Amino acid sequence: MKESRMQVAVVGCGYVGLVAAACFAELGHHVITVDNDQAKIAALNAGDPLIHEDYLPELIRRHHGKRLLFSMDLAGAVRQAQIVLIAVGTPADASGEADLSYVETATREIARAINGHKLIVEKSTVPVHTNAWIQRSMVFNGCSTSDFDVVSNPEFLREGTAVTDFLYPDRIIVGVRSEHAACMMKELYAPLLDGTYAQQPDAVPPPDDALAKPLYLETSPETSELIKHASNAFLAMKISFINAVSAVAESANADIEDVQIGMGSDKRIGTRFLRAGIGYGGSCFPKDVSAFRAIAQSCGCDFTLLDEVQRINQEQLNRFVAKVRKTLWTIKGKRLAALGLAFKSGTDDIRESPAINVIQDLLSRDCQITAYDPAAMERARAVLGNAITYAPDAYAAMDGADALLLLTEWKEFASLDLSMVKRLLKYPIVLDGRNLYTPKEMAAAGLNYYSIGRAPLELSNPTPGRVRTAKMS
Ligand code: NAD
Repeated sequence: MKESRMQVAVVGCGYVGLVAAACFAELGHHVITVDNDQAKIAALNAGDPLIHEDYLPELIRRHHGKRLLFSMDLAGAVRQAQIVLIAVGTPADASGEADLSYVETATREIARAINGHKLIVEKSTVPVHTNAWIQRSMVFNGCSTSDFDVVSNPEFLREGTAVTDFLYPDRIIVGVRSEHAACMMKELYAPLLDGTYAQQPDAVPPPDDALAKPLYLETSPETSELIKHASNAFLAMKISFINAVSAVAESANADIEDVQIGMGSDKRIGTRFLRAGIGYGGSCFPKDVSAFRAIAQSCGCDFTLLDEVQRINQEQLNRFVAKVRKTLWTIKGKRLAALGLAFKSGTDDIRESPAINVIQDLLSRDCQITAYDPAAMERARAVLGNAITYAPDAYAAMDGADALLLLTEWKEFASLDLSMVKRLLKYPIVLDGRNLYTPKEMAAAGLNYYSIGRAPLELSNPTPGRVRTAKMS
């Protein structure tokens, strides 16, 4: 890989900033990653990758101290950089709008440090017109418009597969106003656009469905900002849609798993994000749906469909908790095993995790929870403290429990030894919020099984027709 391509500063060492920084170093650029959280920078400099992501520790080890530096000195990083990425958080504020104060603070600090032309790249997910606001703020803070360009370059990585998503993207969206900025962005991503990165002998291996080359789409900044918000809102809508269908399936005695296969095999629909569960969570979908709703409203469009997406998501979680209560008859004083704390598999992120929300709801009803997650225990402890017990593994969590709850779709939770599960549980009851098993498997193991969008399997009152799954040919 050609070295010394470009000098890059990344502001924000979170899930996006850290992955982008490590990946840009992997592409041959020199990257200084800045955060104002001293503990994060100290941990990164001590070799701790901070977040659970496949390949991230390897990339940090490979480039740290060479093409990848971690620092608290934003001004110093900006002065050395041609390109400055803003990757700070954009949480929802109390009204549901995006809180852009972190973006504004970062912009102000960049403006004060400017010492020549900089390309400022908006990586954070932001409402339409933020690019223009950044530009305005740069000028208000003493910069001339010839000192900088502001580019909108939304990030589409998914936690759990963040590094491979970044290095093998489906598309790179770049919202630019000038030819110069457009050229710099093409140079930044060149090894992905010409396919040379994937040919490196030590490249991170591509996922099975990687494209030879991504779509590179140049747009106006406003279009680019809108693409990101609209994409996340659409995916959230797809999840809420299938969750709403799962509620119908459950009362109509249909099987949501077969419905998903039948619907998803239509290429216009597709199977991805068409899996019923306990709802979407994480640091993006909940806040992005509400921010998109708010920005649409400020543009004069009453996008009420998005209210429904949010309502269905909450309702799906409420229905799961109601199912737990109904299944256990009384819940006060019961001990439940909860497998999963992260908002999805492959990550330690628990922000807006449906698993944590289910646990908190159940705790408010005076039951005890013993939980296990392969990656998110430490982060969960920071939120739940001693309110729950933390088990060293999945089987320890369920030992002596009144029932087992499956809350995150980790692979290891989909391949439990079911005879062991039966032996360890006090009562043979499994409530699966992620449909990790078939009723047939559970029936064979002698476990009562309550899942999403499928009839309950109650062995005391078995209904054989209900454990059948469709055969595909
Ligand atoms: P995060 O909260 O994990 O990280 C943000 C980091 O920015 C924190 O470490 C914080 O300390 C730092 N920071 C804030 N202000 C700063 C400043 N002035 N100077 C230096 N550092 C500062 O957030 P994230 O999950 O990485 O998300 C960042 C943005 O990317 C958000 O807008 C998010 O919506 C978007 N995004 C996230 C994902 C994802 O999967 N997490 C995917 C795509 C896009």
